Amino acid sequence: MSSYEQWKVFVLRLGHRIERDKRITTHVFLVARAFGAHGAFYSGQRDDKVEESVRKVVERWGGSFNVEYVRDWVRKIEEWRKGGGEVIHLTMYGLPLDEVIDDIRGSKKNKLIVVGSEKVPRFIFEIADWNVSVTLQPHSEVGALSVFLHELYMGAELKREFENAKIKIIPQARGKRVIRLS
Ligand code: SAM
Repeated sequence: MSSYEQWKVFVLRLGHRIERDKRITTHVFLVARAFGAHGAFYSGQRDDKVEESVRKVVERWGGSFNVEYVRDWVRKIEEWRKGGGEVIHLTMYGLPLDEVIDDIRGSKKNKLIVVGSEKVPRFIFEIADWNVSVTLQPHSEVGALSVFLHELYMGAELKREFENAKIKIIPQARGKRVIRLS
């Protein structure tokens, strides 16, 4: 993904609730990592188990993806913007992805991709630089994030290799082949 090295991508997952969201928040982070994001933040309830399961994946499968809890997501966004970054909120009410993705990719600013959970605070619509829809239908933060990142990187993320991986899959037409690297 060398042509995209002019900016970095982080994901902010809003409103995590331990019982209800543990699987889906983990999936948001795993998709973020696998599809080329550099790290993630989350707000709501702090969840050591989610953080630990992402840490274990990074340890085995490589890369440097890190998850950080933020108590005050508004402050995080303000700091992000002060640091020169832009904020992209994924919402079915936003501008269609295909109409804005070239401009987002073309801007040299680091990108904070915000996804909600059950109820999204209204303020995020105001504070975001971009409100972007991935279809105008309700679906999922995991689906929206994966399609957004795929379009942002124009598919280059599919070929990414992760440094310091302990294991690696050798693709097979049938069956499984995994090799140990360390
Ligand atoms: N009912 C919530 C609300 O107030 O907007 C949305 C809940 S939805 C299960 C969780 C998250 O998935 C949303 O906050 C948004 O980030 C993402 N999402 C769902 N559908 C989307 C779409 N069509 N386009 C972009 N993002 C979407």
